Amino acid sequence: MANYIPSVGMEVHAELATHSKMFCRCPVAFGGEPNTRVCPICLGLPGTLPVPNHAAVEMVLKTALALNCTIAMHSIFHRKNYFYPDLPKGYQVSQYGETNPLGYDGYLEIPRPDGSTKRIRIRRVHLEEDTGKLMHLPNGGSGVDYNRAGTPLMEIVTEFPPDIENPDEAKEYLSQLRQILIYLGVCDGKMEEGSLRCEPNISVRLEGAAKYGTKSELKNLNSFKSVQLGVAFEVRRQVAVLEGGGEVVQETRGWNEQKESSYLMRVKEAENDYRYFPDPDLAPMKFEEAEIEKLRSELPELPLSKSLRYQNVLGLSAYDAGVLIADLEWSQFFEEAIGLGGEPKIICNWMTGDFAKMLNEHGVHTRDSKIKPAHLVDLAKLVSSGAINGKMAKDILAKAFETGDLPSDIAKALGVSQITGEHEIRAFVIKVLEENVEIVNKFKAGNVGVKGFLVGQIMKQSGGRANPALVQQLLGVELDKP
Ligand SMILES: [Zn+2]
Repeated sequence: MANYIPSVGMEVHAELATHSKMFCRCPVAFGGEPNTRVCPICLGLPGTLPVPNHAAVEMVLKTALALNCTIAMHSIFHRKNYFYPDLPKGYQVSQYGETNPLGYDGYLEIPRPDGSTKRIRIRRVHLEEDTGKLMHLPNGGSGVDYNRAGTPLMEIVTEFPPDIENPDEAKEYLSQLRQILIYLGVCDGKMEEGSLRCEPNISVRLEGAAKYGTKSELKNLNSFKSVQLGVAFEVRRQVAVLEGGGEVVQETRGWNEQKESSYLMRVKEAENDYRYFPDPDLAPMKFEEAEIEKLRSELPELPLSKSLRYQNVLGLSAYDAGVLIADLEWSQFFEEAIGLGGEPKIICNWMTGDFAKMLNEHGVHTRDSKIKPAHLVDLAKLVSSGAINGKMAKDILAKAFETGDLPSDIAKALGVSQITGEHEIRAFVIKVLEENVEIVNKFKAGNVGVKGFLVGQIMKQSGGRANPALVQQLLGVELDKP
């Protein structure tokens, strides 16, 4: 079979995490009784005048800066005219295609499996408003819920010809983008609630062909997995069509998550004419250089550079770095602990191990936990100085999780300290060997696997306080005796 090269363009819509809607004061929230968060402005009643939400404009500018875009110092809103019941005004306020979107000509870097990065160019980042939602009523018929209508919506579109060439890159692009939006605090990134929506367009062409293939657009993808599976499915489907002598048709397809296949929604016969024109109710936006530079200076360190710093400077594995940066607060906790003198790898192990487990089991959020970065640093010092062993450290951390006391104070109060005296440990060893003659005989007969059982018994004898390395060593000496 001939070799086909896929090309994937990505159109992502992100609902902005503002308190109120784009042009009115209605609150923004997910769900709720239909049509309870509406007013004459977002319903488009005659005689109302929209007032742009400055916070939304700032969020788009921040995103555009984080995506290395050029900022349009002059920008305007357009009306995109079409009729659909979920659109109360009969038009959507948006920013027309190539005419000064807030940000343009940017890029986002995605990591490659070999540790290098690939640049995915971004064509534009613009601001618009969301539509309402049509819903099927239980007793038949349809209704429309305008709660979402007028929610600030940001659209991020990749450059053509597309830089994304396979399903993994599509997923990685979306994953990086989502993390950036969360780090910037501009979108909660909840794909399952629709606050982050992704519509890839996919085409294939023969290797070496100059002309790009006809593309299909995929909708209803509400997880990273769906994006990856959906793109892979479309690539296979189009290659099969071409190999069968057919022609790929420009169409919009939906993704069926259960069947893991796409289905035809509609064939695009011609570009819709939306009769875009500048919105006469909305004044042009103008920005000052100083204002943009201030926003730029406020950008946080972005996820990918943070991950690379954790790997290259702090010596963590790509996996560990990935786990730590997945959540901004989690990575801040980690960095605070490092700032207090914690060993990166050791702090990472405590965080991703016992601490994460406790938070999970108790359903506690990092910021509400009584364990602060100083607790983990204190605990790690107790272990590395030999004052307590790993088992004791786990118990002390569990206590600290309940009380908020410092591990060193807990250790002092409990009078626990690691037993490191050879004499004392040897006594435990000999006692356990005397009580387990049969096991010892098994060991001497060649069943070395029973050694672990003996170690466990000795640790138990010591109340978990014996230094495990010494136990191993002294047990070995005793077992080697004839
Ligand atoms: Zn409203």
